[in-house]
Amino acid sequence: MRLYLDAAATTPLLPEAAEAMRPWLEQEHGNPSSLHAEGRRAKLALDEARETVSNALGCMFGELHFTSSGTEAANLAIIGLALHNTDFARNRVILGAAEHHCVLHTRETLERLGYRVDLCAVNREGGVNPAALENLMAADVLLVSMMHANNELGTINPVALLADLAHSQGAIFHTDAVQTFPFDGGNMPETGADLLSVSAHKLYGPKGVGALAVKAGVKLKPVMVGGGQERELRAGTENVAGAVGFAEAVKWCQANPIAKATREAARDAFRRRLEQASPIVPQWTVMDSPMLGGHAHLRLPGISAETMLIRLDRMGVSASSGAACSSGSLEPSHVLLACGYSMEEAKEGLRFSFGKGISTSEAEKAAELVAEAAEEILKTRT
Ligand code: PLP
Repeated sequence: MRLYLDAAATTPLLPEAAEAMRPWLEQEHGNPSSLHAEGRRAKLALDEARETVSNALGCMFGELHFTSSGTEAANLAIIGLALHNTDFARNRVILGAAEHHCVLHTRETLERLGYRVDLCAVNREGGVNPAALENLMAADVLLVSMMHANNELGTINPVALLADLAHSQGAIFHTDAVQTFPFDGGNMPETGADLLSVSAHKLYGPKGVGALAVKAGVKLKPVMVGGGQERELRAGTENVAGAVGFAEAVKWCQANPIAKATREAARDAFRRRLEQASPIVPQWTVMDSPMLGGHAHLRLPGISAETMLIRLDRMGVSASSGAACSSGSLEPSHVLLACGYSMEEAKEGLRFSFGKGISTSEAEKAAELVAEAAEEILKTRT
């Protein structure tokens, strides 16, 4: 049996979500924009899903826009705002240096549109220091984008405070909450964000559906043009089955807050066992900052993530480095580089992320396998 410890990359679809989606994949085929009975039923299903997701996010029904992914939501938030802006005195955008690439890679487009992009430094544990943001803030900033929790390290940012700093200079605040929704197995806390991006496949919903909450009064231009779907903000026929599955997964997470405690217990058991069994002292990346319950991020100095992950995969353990894979080899993690690690260290980051199905004994078993893999790697060197 394999041990899947990569819940931060994606989670399996809940049977309840699959069941709720089934009619919308197999029998119901209406287009929510059509006026006839089939279309109206699809529209109703979409609206019910919008109601559930917007309630959990603490936003209004009309503020929630379904997208094809968290990536699309973040792109729409950032590029859509930049495209709409006509106040050319606001020509600066601030992005966190450890953001997901769906935020960081908007930089090129922003610069082509004439914006200056500043990256806000993070501390050694990947968290944004409010003082660093305060230093960058001025009346020329259009937008600040800071993630709620870091996908590689699990560090949680004080987003409400960061939003206040952005607002104090009249800037708009976007947060990528893909890793935190639904927070603590329930609803989102108040983030203060004007724009907030989420994704279904991190919470046992389907892949290929996300959402952007846009606070009333914040104006965006669509990035994809076409029909007037999603209040004229996101053209394209809606993914009704996806939205229904997303909403069902949200309901399940709200009804099962225990899942968070289970994840945390598994993560803590993994950490304890690895401390005992590993031939190399594990260097935990996040020690002092608030962090997600299911994340463990570490380095085993001297062992590259690539070597470890390939070996673990063969042993039946699925984990990740959080870094992108290109041309068959792992790139150094841009997150660890932003935290101040060296190029070599940035290739050593290992992320184990615990979903709801992992027991503490399985987590301990995984730690023993990591220790065994480290022993074997060390042996091949002597
Ligand atoms: N933002 C963060 C923090 C993520 O972890 C991810 C997923 O890896 C994304 C955005 C992208 O979401 P999606 O896979 O739905 O495009």
